[in-house]
This record gives sequence, C-alpha cells and structure tokens, in this order.
Amino acid sequence: MNNLYLKQMEIGPMENFIYLIGDSQTKEVAVIDPAWDVPLILKEAKKENVIIRAALVTHGHFDHTNGVEELLKTLDIPVYINKHEADFFKFKWGKENVRTVNSGDVVKLGDVEVQLIHTPGHTPGSQCFLLKNNLVAGDTLFINGCGRCDLPGGNVEQMFDTITNKLMKMDNKTIVFPGHNYADKKHDTLENQKKTNPYMQYDNLMAFVGKRLPGYRT
Ligand SMILES: [Zn+2]
Repeated sequence: MNNLYLKQMEIGPMENFIYLIGDSQTKEVAVIDPAWDVPLILKEAKKENVIIRAALVTHGHFDHTNGVEELLKTLDIPVYINKHEADFFKFKWGKENVRTVNSGDVVKLGDVEVQLIHTPGHTPGSQCFLLKNNLVAGDTLFINGCGRCDLPGGNVEQMFDTITNKLMKMDNKTIVFPGHNYADKKHDTLENQKKTNPYMQYDNLMAFVGKRLPGYRT
C-alpha cells in the first residue's frame, strides 16, 4: 500500500524546510517544524487537500518553532516534542497541546506510522521522524553536513553517537530530508550520504570532534 504523503516546502529567511507528512488516502497529515509563515502553511495544506492533525517538532530552535503558537490559535492539535527538548527549552506555548515523547514512540496519521527517533547532539532533544524509508532529519543531518554542536545544549560526543550508532545503521535505501536547504540537492539517499557526507566518515570520536569542533579539547 503506497499511501505515504510527503511534501517539502522551503519557507522563511533561513532556508528552512517545513514538511507536511501523512496519509495520501485519508488526507490526514502532520506539519513538521511549523515556522515563519503559518498562513502559507495553512494555504498549502488547503491547496493539497490535506487536513493537519498534528505538529511534530524536530527540535526547539526558533527557526523551527516560531510558528507553533500561531498555529495553535487556528488549530487545536497535539504538538509532539521530545521530552529532553521540552525540559531544556521550557516553552511557554500550548501547555494543553504539547505532548512530550520518547525515542521509539509512534504517531499515526491515517494508516501511516511515524517513528520518533531521539537524535541528540545539535540539541539535547533533537528527534528525527522515520516514515517507511523517509527520514525527516531536522538539524541532525543535512545533505553533506550535520548540525552545529556549539550552541547551548549542543554536544559533539552525542552527535558522534547519533551518527555512528543510529544514522549509520539505518537502511541504505532511506531518503534523508533535511531541516535546511543548505546543499545543491533537497534530499538524498542515506547510501549516498554515507559515502559523501564529511561527518559520516569517522569511526573514532576524537577525529569527529576535530572535524566538527576544531580546537575543542575534552
Ligand atoms: Zn537548529
């Protein structure tokens, strides 16, 4: 059954990718990282003839979440955020709507299951979303890049662990959909990324640290 729906939209001044994902038959979708232009997101959903049932947040940074509050004024929907991220950022928005989640939790949109995977490193509660072979990666993994680890809550050792023990072990057929349009491709296979992404070439922590945070000493 091929009822997976995924729409990638570039919105805002920081080349953010915002996604609608869900079930193409029941038309139930979630918006990933509602930010910058909520009216435009709602307009796109209407044009696509899909119903937004939930919001999924990859991580708490402003450029990925600055539309949540406005979205909740229009739609009474759950907002799924990893519990470590909620603890760290202490958002004031949507107390009744926020659902704190753990790695391995599943959100269903129609018949499509979205697996939530905790991928700390860029922030303490960054999470990626896996729908069949599609991985919406937020700022954890970009095409030929990875998220910064030098911002508050970032942790380069955790990023190495995330890449080595989670992302490198995923199926090669997985398609990576990043949180920003920073490359000449908007998505890529994980198989290619394992070969070309400079941050996926390390099997020891200190070499990775030297690449991601030059000058850093443990
Ligand atoms: Zn970020």
